Amino acid sequence: MRISGQTRPYAVLGHPIGHSLSPVMHNAAFEALGMDAIYLAFDVPPERLMDTLTALKSLGFGGVNLTIPLKETAFAGLTDVDDTARRFRAVNTVRFTPDGFQGFNTDGQGILRALRESFDLQLRGCDVFILGCGGAGRAVALMCAVEGASQIRLADRTPARALRVAEEIRLLAPQISVSTSTLTDAPQACHSAQLAIQATSVGLKPGDPSLLPSSAFHRGQWAYDLIYHVAETPWMAAAAQAGAKTANGLGMLLHQGAESFTIWTEREAPIDVMRRALENALYNKE
Ligand code: NAP
Repeated sequence: MRISGQTRPYAVLGHPIGHSLSPVMHNAAFEALGMDAIYLAFDVPPERLMDTLTALKSLGFGGVNLTIPLKETAFAGLTDVDDTARRFRAVNTVRFTPDGFQGFNTDGQGILRALRESFDLQLRGCDVFILGCGGAGRAVALMCAVEGASQIRLADRTPARALRVAEEIRLLAPQISVSTSTLTDAPQACHSAQLAIQATSVGLKPGDPSLLPSSAFHRGQWAYDLIYHVAETPWMAAAAQAGAKTANGLGMLLHQGAESFTIWTEREAPIDVMRRALENALYNKE
């Protein structure tokens, strides 16, 4: 990669940020397309976000991604945001314009494209189970509602969290049947669904168990784990043992990034190049 006097910088901002894989996939994309651009990562605490955006804009940055915990801060600070960002109350992509900033949320498209690609699955009419109603689980649940899932079954270790997301879905799409369960009832709810999504952080640490046993899954079911740090998570292994089709969260990470890339550059993202860069960084470490 060569840096010239005209290299256009992009960045991901978060706090902390050292773990981010966004530089890996975006720099691979710039290189593959022969673009004079570079993608960096900066640790920015929430209280400095808006000043940092102003500074990066004046330095000529092409755009930024935002990750934990800045997505909600950006939503509160930006006035021009797209529908998905408004729905999720979170911004993960900022475009700099002559007049200021435009906020987007590409996480919703990320999960939709990942499910389509992994399972050839459309959410319309689908019976979905979601384990974990934190930031990511909530976003996925709302996307399922927007896309017309027929039934959404939510489970969370903290029942109040699942109830809050259920209430949001009822307001957004009253026709959808929504139910909540605790971790104790979760195996039954999971077994009844066509698509099961794992959105907790359990599975991130080596030695983490699957939160559900293989008896919670059935043959032909689709099982998607948002975790992507290993090729097969414990939850995917449990689902596969029952004959479910499984995929990890790499596709969601990839496709949200690809959509951000297109928003900034107005060019089609080189998906295969970006996927290979992520797979190399994650799974071919030795
Ligand atoms: P978060 O807001 O902190 O939520 C964490 C969730 O995990 C909550 O539902 C929490 O339950 C649950 N949890 C944590 N420890 C648990 C345990 N021991 N037993 C049962 N449940 C437990 O995090 P997030 O941003 O939603 O991220 C969740 C996962 O999605 C992470 O693994 C993250 O890596 C992954 N993710 C992937 C992508 C992607 O692009 N593929 C994007 C975003 C996130 P409580 O409500 O009880 O705390």
